[in-house]
Amino acid sequence: MNFIQTKNLDLYYNINQNINSVISIITNRMNKINDIYKMKFTNLTLYLFNDKNEFISHLKNKFSISNMPDWIKGLNVKTESFVLIEDIGEKITDDSYNRIIHELIHQNLFKTFCTNKMLPKWLDEGIALYFSEQFSNNEKIKIYKHLKYGEIPNLQTLNENFVLSGGYHLAPSIIEFIIETYGVDEIYKLSEDMNKSDNNSSLEILYKNWYNYLKNNYLMEK
Ligand SMILES: [Zn+2]
Repeated sequence: MNFIQTKNLDLYYNINQNINSVISIITNRMNKINDIYKMKFTNLTLYLFNDKNEFISHLKNKFSISNMPDWIKGLNVKTESFVLIEDIGEKITDDSYNRIIHELIHQNLFKTFCTNKMLPKWLDEGIALYFSEQFSNNEKIKIYKHLKYGEIPNLQTLNENFVLSGGYHLAPSIIEFIIETYGVDEIYKLSEDMNKSDNNSSLEILYKNWYNYLKNNYLMEK
């Protein structure tokens, strides 16, 4: 693979696109997240692929994963992120850039907050989805339907059964709730607390307040 080092990135890549313009878009996105959410990115390691087979076999060899799901396009393992990028003509898709930023946020959270243990999935995925602009109107409509026709799972269930319990649309809404109610510093305070203990009593209050926030903000009849 090719290698290039920038101020914030150790980048391994095998892609057709111009690497300098890719780097500049990633850097701009990280700067924007830093401006809006005060997330400081440490030096991160990123692997980029164009070819799906190369992406899959790289991961399989590196981590001895035998049953890699076919749909996977991005993965962060501790201090390394791996992303398959897709393009339309010369241009890398917005989805691909969102995916890169998503995985780099996981890596950054790991380096900053997981010195003792991993963050709960709802928090880790919630931040990655929300900060990387993957909390779209589609996801918001799913929240509306979820409130109207289903049950909002508690944080424990969200953790243990993330995909099936609706984690991909619910987790970023927890982050939205926290930021809009308490400010972004609360996200980092919570992440620090999680690294130290499970802090169960405050999580019950968080759940209740988040649930109320959803009912007040996502259940409006049109
Ligand atoms: Zn993720």
